[in-house]
Amino acid sequence: SSRCMATMPLTSAPTSAFAKEPVNGKYTVSFIRGDGIGIEISEAVDDIYKAAGVPIIWENVSVAPYINKQGKQSIPDEAIESIRKNTVALKGPLATPIGKGHVSLNLTLRRTFSLFANVRPCKSLEGYKTPYDNVDTVLIRENTEGEYSGIEHEVVDGVVQSIKLITLEASERVARYAFHHAEQNKRNRVTAVHKANIMKMSDGMFLHACRQVAKEYPNIQYDEDLLDRACLRIVQDPAPYADRVMVMPNLYGDILSDMCAGLIGGLGLTPSGNIGKDASIFEAVHGSGPDIAGQNKANPTALLLSSIMMLRHMRLFDHADKIESAIFRAIAEGDRTGDLGGKLGTREFTKAVIKRL
Ligand code: NAD
Repeated sequence: SSRCMATMPLTSAPTSAFAKEPVNGKYTVSFIRGDGIGIEISEAVDDIYKAAGVPIIWENVSVAPYINKQGKQSIPDEAIESIRKNTVALKGPLATPIGKGHVSLNLTLRRTFSLFANVRPCKSLEGYKTPYDNVDTVLIRENTEGEYSGIEHEVVDGVVQSIKLITLEASERVARYAFHHAEQNKRNRVTAVHKANIMKMSDGMFLHACRQVAKEYPNIQYDEDLLDRACLRIVQDPAPYADRVMVMPNLYGDILSDMCAGLIGGLGLTPSGNIGKDASIFEAVHGSGPDIAGQNKANPTALLLSSIMMLRHMRLFDHADKIESAIFRAIAEGDRTGDLGGKLGTREFTKAVIKRL
């Protein structure tokens, strides 16, 4: 089978959509405020963007599900249309109901817009003490298939089968984005993280795609690491990961990125971007925080840093730098929310950032 794969032609990867041209100097961006703490941390974005004079008009969209004509839950057409039109969206966390019959809105958004690459940077914050002060990882997670293909069934009573789906097309698309991202962000190595020792065919195909794409980028080094070994190495010494981008199938990225988040101070700090062909959606890694929702406790940093990835994606570099620097200085100078051991609420931290713009 490996010989067959080696002769398979690789299709060209889609490029990610940038924002539409501004109208009267302003960009329109879709904003899904989300559930739980999503409401509070979205207000922090509103206030800080207003104070920083960012040329963005938010188009608020609800993705509250409704039952369509086929009797299935789906996302309102207005939300889909807004994101399709604006090509860029910022998104708060959405609570996923557990159990049968509910669609995951997050999965639906990923599928609707073919959000093929999930980019998760994780960088130590200056002045905030954690076991390491030199974490600087960038992890790119395949976002559309793997164990998340949603194909599960009971074979016979007591035996369940879940399908891990890997395609050459999706693997190649995310691999090419990883090399592109490395080149754009001056990282000189791409490491494919895998378990091809066990999943010889599926992860084997993922690696095959990475190796093929690596040939297109002679200036970027390429290597491979087993998932378990990568976990061990990162927690022992994160320094060697600061020069590279790691790319991997869906589930591995889900787990490894939370591990990296733990190294820098937790979920209140880690942003992400879902890069797609027709649109890109930026969101915090964390969920809706039902245990602290509505209590002015949530740290808005992860959503703010996601919005900064979005500004850079839109090439609004000056605004991105200004807001990022204000956030980092606030945290370094001890103005922190409770998750970072500080005394400030969401609103007070927001004011502390605005003061430093
Ligand atoms: P969670 O990330 O919401 O919370 C985990 C823990 O981290 C909680 O103790 C929470 O209080 C804390 N936390 C999270 N974000 C924080 C912040 N900004 N500041 C301070 N503390 C923060 O994970 P969960 O409880 O497993 O999930 C809750 C809901 O969110 C579920 O319905 C889940 O499906 C959903 N979820 C959505 C997304 C998304 O929309 N992308 C991602 C993950 C989980």
